[in-house]
Amino acid sequence: MRYRKLGNTGLKVSELGFGTIPILSGQVPVLPEYFSPDTDTAVAIMRKAYEFGCNFYDTAIPEEYGDAEYKLGEFVKTVDRNSVIISDKARFYGGGDIYREVLRSIENLGTKPDIYFVHQVDDSNADEVFGRGGALDALYDLKKEGKIGFTGIASHYYTVMYRAATDPRVDIIQGSGNILERGMLDRIRKEAAFRGKGIILNKVYAAGLLIGPFTIAELIGGVLEYPFSCALLGIGTFEQCEMAFSREFDPIHFEFEEVLERLRKGFEPLYKGFETPKKGSGISHKGFEPIGCDRCEKCVCPYGHEIHTSFRQYNYFNLGKEYWAAGKLKMNIEETWQDCRNCDEKSCMTECGRHLYVPGEIERIYELLQAFG
Ligand code: SF4
Ligand code: SF4
Repeated sequence: MRYRKLGNTGLKVSELGFGTIPILSGQVPVLPEYFSPDTDTAVAIMRKAYEFGCNFYDTAIPEEYGDAEYKLGEFVKTVDRNSVIISDKARFYGGGDIYREVLRSIENLGTKPDIYFVHQVDDSNADEVFGRGGALDALYDLKKEGKIGFTGIASHYYTVMYRAATDPRVDIIQGSGNILERGMLDRIRKEAAFRGKGIILNKVYAAGLLIGPFTIAELIGGVLEYPFSCALLGIGTFEQCEMAFSREFDPIHFEFEEVLERLRKGFEPLYKGFETPKKGSGISHKGFEPIGCDRCEKCVCPYGHEIHTSFRQYNYFNLGKEYWAAGKLKMNIEETWQDCRNCDEKSCMTECGRHLYVPGEIERIYELLQAFG
């Protein structure tokens, strides 16, 4: 296992960390899939990772990750506390709320979290989080009181991550990226404001969906060139643990086109079985091409359509998460499709480094959903 600096915290973290979603038990609507091991088994899996050199474990409160927080607490009791770094998070945006949640997490874990993140920060809650008396102020106070080690912001949005990077109260930033959705990683690599912050990367496997078209070694090796501190891998079985942590991976560079070509092959089984499109849908096999969006989030739509999310769900849909992605795809797609058809400015395309013709891609998604009903 290799280790990297965690920003300016003075900590060194394993290059690969343990994401605890897959060890949870219960009924929690979350990706990736989870395996519901009992506590003893979950602890044994985390210990195995520890023996391979993993020292970073990430979890969230029970409403988000089921009983994973308790299980992590049980694991920590079995090792030297100073040899592991525990990161925790909660989706609360007001100062009082997150303060209360941190105290509850300390009880559930039986120890103080080394890092606490405000989870899922986006444009709708960022002003509250970063504002006076918001969640970030509370985490900063908790750090001064010694109840947590460091403060963090976790988000899927570059605008939020950049705001966190320029805020001196923030120590660590958590965001997502992988060999397909690499646009944010490319931006972080170029932007000086992120230097000095610890960067935790999640969704390296795209919630498991890129496993198949790519091997684990390719997915991990393909992100190693980026300047993160620790890449989280969701682990729920001994086998997954061994695959992820038992050896060092070599960095691999994939051109974006190579990634798309692989995805195309991953899409084939689905469109081969879909030879009779719904009458009048107008859909052709070309409708199942991957959308070559790298999720850089430079596209801004004056109508507020979050097109990169639609593109992501489309690709996830075609990689076999129909039930999960279709529901999200359906949200606002008709409205987006209508607006794109009537849109003159098409300002979303101005900064698109992948030169996507956005209305055409939206049309494809719309057709796909029409065809699937
Ligand atoms: S084409 Fe116009 S309406 Fe459609 S996403 Fe782009 S800016 Fe928005
Ligand atoms: S559509 Fe283009 S600008 Fe928008 S996230 Fe994708 S690659 Fe980036």
